[in-house]
Amino acid sequence: MSLDDAAEELASTLGVDKTEVKADLEKLVSYSVPMDEAKQSLRRKYGDAGSSSGQSGSPPKTEIDDITPESGNVSVTARVLTVGKRSIRYEGENQIIFEGELADESGRISYTAWNDFSLSPGDTITAGNAGVREWDGEPELNLGGSTTVTMQEEPLSVPYEIGGERDLIDLEPGDRGRTVDAKVLEVERRTINGRDGETEILSGEIGDETTRLPFTDWDPHSEIAAGASVRLADVYVDEFRGVPSVNVTEFTAVESIGDVEVNESATEMTVRAAVESGGVYDVLLTGSVIEVRDGSGLIQRCPECGRVVQNDQCRTHGQVDPEDDMRVKAILDDGTETVTVILGSDLTARVYGGSLEDALDHARDAMDRGVVAERIADALEGREFSVRGALSVDEYGANLNATAFDERADDPKALATAFLSEVDA
Ligand SMILES: [Zn+2]
Repeated sequence: MSLDDAAEELASTLGVDKTEVKADLEKLVSYSVPMDEAKQSLRRKYGDAGSSSGQSGSPPKTEIDDITPESGNVSVTARVLTVGKRSIRYEGENQIIFEGELADESGRISYTAWNDFSLSPGDTITAGNAGVREWDGEPELNLGGSTTVTMQEEPLSVPYEIGGERDLIDLEPGDRGRTVDAKVLEVERRTINGRDGETEILSGEIGDETTRLPFTDWDPHSEIAAGASVRLADVYVDEFRGVPSVNVTEFTAVESIGDVEVNESATEMTVRAAVESGGVYDVLLTGSVIEVRDGSGLIQRCPECGRVVQNDQCRTHGQVDPEDDMRVKAILDDGTETVTVILGSDLTARVYGGSLEDALDHARDAMDRGVVAERIADALEGREFSVRGALSVDEYGANLNATAFDERADDPKALATAFLSEVDA
């Protein structure tokens, strides 16, 4: 909330002149007094005893937009937007927690409830003495043993969607209590070593009209079968290799529904939009290859873990007898931003114009492994390509693992080359 808005609100609740209140507020804020405290001391100064004394020990009401990671404990009146139920491991015990978002007119905030306050989307509550902690740079509310939750009769109107129903394209890592309608495109049963020993899970891919996403079902549901359409009520979203991944749990209500249409094509985006979205599972980017990077062409991998090794040394497995492979790391630029496109061995063989064996022969004849990367660079640099694949964004940058890589047919340079070769013939 801006200083001006705060002054306006104070002036009207205290029945005093706004300019006077604003001058006082500005002074307090200039002394680095947090806005909430400043407002509180002005309430005391102008004698609004009701809200300043409050109930014993409960902090003053705070607007959500004013909460910062440094706010300490707060009391808020808010609408419950979403509720997700999850079991986590806490201090060696399985504990059930509830997570989602709360909102008032000023903003919204994530919460974690460590007790079952029987929250439902749409409820209006006053949470007294809620803790504030920082999560990923943002404040988050903790509703725990010392928090009082009171239901309010009058629903608070908020400028946000109530309930967790979303299209797959709108899911983001960190989302809780979401409900999606989707078709199961691929599913595989696997045994993993979970926190309670060996356990069976399902993993695969789901899709709707907007996009496709990977999923994991931690408590295999029989309704989740290839080709089936299902409503998944109360899923949470985390990140798997930099893209959103849907998690179905024992608390998810899984229901068979009528056939869900699936968008088979990738989402077309500019490189900038794709990178700013933080990761896209299936994206189509079009741009020019401006550089084929080091680490392209013939490479060697650890036979144990598949990591790229140099001088027969794996970072994890030490001295190894490496296996030959080939790949491309190319920088694609569409004028908005750049991304590193990674081609695996099959796509690399295609752009190189020969198999791994051919490439090894080529390098042996030239007595230089670099000739393979050089030929690839000649074939790619300066040309325009459409690339489809999974984009991940992390501390190493933006990487697109390509599933398809095609030269643009209407690329002027390609057309010119084709035309010239016709003229020459
Ligand atoms: Zn290794």
